[in-house]
Amino acid sequence: MLEQPYEYTARELVEPDWRRLPGFAGVTDEEWRSAQWQRAHCVKNVRQLRGVYGDLLDEAFYADLEADQTGAATMSLLLPPQMLNTMVPTGTPTTAAMLADPVRRYMLPVASDRLAGDYASHPYASRDSLHEHEMWAVEGLTHRYPTKVLAELLSTCPQYCGHCTRMDLVGNSTPAVPKLKFELKPVDRQGAMLQYLRDTPGVRDVVVSGGDVANLPFKNLEAFVAGLLEIDSIRDIRLASKALMGLPQHWLQGEVLDGMGRLAATARARGVSLAVHTHVNAAQSVTPLVAEAARALLAVGVRDVRNQGVLLEGVNATAGQLLDLCFALLDGASITPYYFYMCDMIPSAEHWRVSLATAQTLQHDVMGYLPGFATPRIVCDVPYVGKRWVHQVAEYDRELGISYWTKNYRTGIERTDEAALDRRHTYYDPIHTLGPEGRAWWAAHRTPQLTPVG
Ligand code: SF4
Repeated sequence: MLEQPYEYTARELVEPDWRRLPGFAGVTDEEWRSAQWQRAHCVKNVRQLRGVYGDLLDEAFYADLEADQTGAATMSLLLPPQMLNTMVPTGTPTTAAMLADPVRRYMLPVASDRLAGDYASHPYASRDSLHEHEMWAVEGLTHRYPTKVLAELLSTCPQYCGHCTRMDLVGNSTPAVPKLKFELKPVDRQGAMLQYLRDTPGVRDVVVSGGDVANLPFKNLEAFVAGLLEIDSIRDIRLASKALMGLPQHWLQGEVLDGMGRLAATARARGVSLAVHTHVNAAQSVTPLVAEAARALLAVGVRDVRNQGVLLEGVNATAGQLLDLCFALLDGASITPYYFYMCDMIPSAEHWRVSLATAQTLQHDVMGYLPGFATPRIVCDVPYVGKRWVHQVAEYDRELGISYWTKNYRTGIERTDEAALDRRHTYYDPIHTLGPEGRAWWAAHRTPQLTPVG
């Protein structure tokens, strides 16, 4: 018998032993399960990281991290112990093992990860690469699709991902990126969102996000979701929280589960689907505690827990890595694989991005192993368009790495634009993935002023 390209084996989830890390050697089980303890011991800077790893990592690693934080980093550091502990999950984390680790590669980026020179950032990379602010109906409420909105309730998370697409708004300012600030007070912003939704019955689906809703005091989140549940036209509510993986201790708190149970009961009584969406990019992040938190949410009546990962080179950009992750989520934690987004075109992210051709190949290669309802779609979030499945591309110039996309609806800023549905929109492959002709073309068109294409 010939081997399959991917051989499935059922695997047990493992909680790595945090006591292998010098800074956590004395931490008890009870402390580890405490959300307060986890939040109080987050790593926010190089000094604190040294306090966890000490001499296990050499000075060059700490200097590499410092160079990134003071240089190209678009996100500041914020890592709960739970997430740190999933890096190099077995054995002693050496510098070499840390540099190669998939979770480290996107949660703890170092300067040497990034590409050098002109290849570091795509010429068309931008802050707010999805133009969400332009589509705010009221502050923080992006109305891009006809029937759906994104409600950004806050601009913080319990963990910061190096590749965050909302890098212009989320987290603390870095030397490279001073962050935008919301102007309205949270209570006024949320009130304006609810009023807009009451006035706009064509919207039936609300993604409640940020940031990460795990950073809202639960009573505030409950009040907002309860407000949504009072609007007859809202049929789907999805709460976005990477913390389900990064800080599962938050979702396991009695107060939080009780509140989720109340919201789920009201949603069920009104025929509304209440789901939690999380963001897991590597199989090793799915630990027994993550599974416990996901299953606890399902047990209190949340209809589904789904995963929206990001496709990242060096993290999960092989079919084997994607399938390992999907099976860990589905078998181990009852989390449904849903999407993998191509990494958005933000500054200094080219080392994480893959070409559309690679994404199409990966989509082909993951088909047929998982149940259809849990086979993730790999999507490209095309600026001014929205999510498109990678095989929906209208035209693709592989030499220049330029793809062309169409859409079948008007976004919130195109309601009076007669040409909106005829226009084609562009997305770009990383230039370093192109052949010599493509790279030469971009070198010629990069300076002094970009020549518009598409
Ligand atoms: S959890 Fe989401 S919003 Fe927060 S930093 Fe990560 S990608 Fe950005």
